[in-house]
Amino acid sequence: MTCVRRGCLVVTLVQSLGTRTCGQVELARAGDVMSYLEMCSYEGVNLQKGMNFRLRNGVSVILMSLRPGAPYADRIEEGGRILIYEGHDVPKRDNDIDPKTLDQQAKNPTGTLSQNGLFYEAAVRWKRTHVKPELVKVYEKIRPGMWVYNGLFTLVDAWRETSGERRVFKFKLELIGDVEDVNFEASEIDHTRLIPAQVKMEVWKRDKGRCVLCGSTENLHFDHIIPYSKGGSSLVGENIRLLCATHNLAKRDKIDYQ
Ligand SMILES: [Zn+2]
Repeated sequence: MTCVRRGCLVVTLVQSLGTRTCGQVELARAGDVMSYLEMCSYEGVNLQKGMNFRLRNGVSVILMSLRPGAPYADRIEEGGRILIYEGHDVPKRDNDIDPKTLDQQAKNPTGTLSQNGLFYEAAVRWKRTHVKPELVKVYEKIRPGMWVYNGLFTLVDAWRETSGERRVFKFKLELIGDVEDVNFEASEIDHTRLIPAQVKMEVWKRDKGRCVLCGSTENLHFDHIIPYSKGGSSLVGENIRLLCATHNLAKRDKIDYQ
């Protein structure tokens, strides 16, 4: 069995969480398409919840979905630089009460902070001190079993607001383009911008889930044809295409070293 990490061909007999990895750390790059298992492999844990405060290296992970019928009202603002993420409902209990009719809670029934509470307190701390922002990696589900890494964000604000008949949490996350003092894959983000879900789905359909250069269906990546940093848009499908890891890396090397 080969390692499940992107492009890694190391054969290993070690098995944990149902995945097999070579044990080498590899970082996802914004735009990478992956399966649920690959996503868990990147994070080193079985991701069961949408909000995961401070996992490996103290970096938090949130899962989102902007597909029609998605359970939470997440949205993208400022041309893909800002993500407004909705907090999560209380867990469903046996009493038939729909969690969507109840206020979202900052605490668990035991009195400890819920994921909403943990992220909320971290945002408040950041606004008060401006010391060490909370780092958050965002993954987005675009089809059943198919996820895209949307990049590394900082948590810059949080609040509660009324939504229909109830109160929900909102979290404001800012995509990191250029950071100082955050020694973490910042250069990998390539000053990019979030590609909206509908653009991703449109491109996936147009390119038939294959690399447009070689037809590979493995290790795919949503590639900006003209990079954002050179004026290319994230908002139109014409500037986005699917590339396999090999062709994406070949392109990146060309841009970096020419
Ligand atoms: Zn290819």
